[in-house]
Amino acid sequence: MDDSNTQLTPLSELGEFGLIDKITADIKTINKTTLFGIGDDAAVIKPKNNMLTLVSKDLLLEGVHFDIMYTPLKHLGYKAAVVNFSDIAAMNGKPKQLLIGIGVGAKFSVEAIEEIYVGIRKACEVYGVDLIGGDTTSSASGLVISGTIIGEVEKDKVVYRKGAKVHDLICVSGDLGGAYMGLLILEREKKAFQANPDIQPDLTQHDYLLQRQLKPEARTDIVDLLAKEKIVPTSMIDISDGLASDVMHLCKASSNGCVISEEKIPIDQTTFDLAKEFNIVPTVAALNGGEDYELLFTVDQNDYEKVNNLESISIIGYMTDVSEGERLITNDDTSIELKAQGWDALKKKD
Ligand code: ADP
Ligand code: MG
Repeated sequence: MDDSNTQLTPLSELGEFGLIDKITADIKTINKTTLFGIGDDAAVIKPKNNMLTLVSKDLLLEGVHFDIMYTPLKHLGYKAAVVNFSDIAAMNGKPKQLLIGIGVGAKFSVEAIEEIYVGIRKACEVYGVDLIGGDTTSSASGLVISGTIIGEVEKDKVVYRKGAKVHDLICVSGDLGGAYMGLLILEREKKAFQANPDIQPDLTQHDYLLQRQLKPEARTDIVDLLAKEKIVPTSMIDISDGLASDVMHLCKASSNGCVISEEKIPIDQTTFDLAKEFNIVPTVAALNGGEDYELLFTVDQNDYEKVNNLESISIIGYMTDVSEGERLITNDDTSIELKAQGWDALKKKD
C-alpha cells in the first residue's frame, strides 16, 4: 500500500518509545473533562455532574476484520476510531476520549503506523474526541488495533437496547447495504488482481460504496438531531452486524417481537444497482451485510409525526408482542420469519 515510498523506516530503528513519541507528537486535548491525556501511566478524566460515563471497546484484527491488501491504512485508522464512536452514539451519547492499543508485526514500517495514526487523529478531530492514551507492542502475526472509547450522556437521556415497548416504531438512519456492496467490489478487484497483477483495480464510479466500507462514519449527528427534536428513543443499537441481526438484538433485549416492511428499508440507488450486477437481492445486503454503522432505534407512537418529518430517518416497522415473533413483510406482501432461512426466500430466482 505504501510501496510507492522507497525510503521506509523499519520499526527497529525507532524502538517502542521512539514510535510512541512519533505517533503521539503534538496531540492536544480539547474536552474540559480531559484533565490529562498522553504522557503518564494513566490519563485523568473528570466527568461532568449529571452526566453518565459510557465505555466501550472494539478490536480489529488483520485477516478477520480487514484485509491489508485493499485497506488504505489511513482509512483503517479512521475506521478503528469511528466504530468505537458509533457504540457511544448507540447509547445516545457523545464520544469524548479514545485510547488505542496497537500490535504491529515487524513487516510494518514506521511510516505505515504513522499513516494509521493520520486516520485515527483525523477521526478524533472530526468528532471532537481526545486521544488520551494507548499501548504499543509488537505482534507475532498480523496487525491488531483495539480502541477503547469513553463517552458521556445526560443521566435521563441514556438509551439501552432493552427499552422498546409493543407498538413502538422501528426507525433507521441513512441507508443500508452499502458497506457490504463496497466489500464485494474490493473482493472482486482483489481476485482480478491476483489472477493478473497487470490489471489495475477498477474502483472508479464506486466512491460511495467504497467509502461506506472503508471509511464509515458514526451517526453522532443523529444523536444531535434527536436531541434537537426532543426525541428520546426507547431503545437503540448501531448496525454493525446487519439489520436482521441487530433488530433481533433489540427485540430480544426488550422482550418484543417485530414487523419490518421490506419496502421501507432504505437502500441507496448505487447499492441497488450494484446488487443487481452481483445478482444479489438488495434487501439481502441490507439485512445481512453489516458494517453500515447506522443507528437502529425505536420511538413511542406519539413521536410519529416528529420522526416522519426527518429526512435522514426511515420508519421501517414496529414492535409487537413477543409471541408474534420477528417478521418481515416482503415486497409481494408475504409475511416471513426474520431469520437466517428467511432471506433464502428473497434470493433471486432468475
Ligand atoms: P506504560 O509503560 O506505562 O504502559 P507507555 O510507555 O506504553 O507507558 O506509554 C506512554 C504514554 O503513551 C502513555 O500515556 C500511553 O497511554 C501513551 N501511548 C502508548 N502507546 C500509545 C498508542 N499506540 N497510541 C496512543 N497513545 C499511546
Ligand atoms: Mg504501555
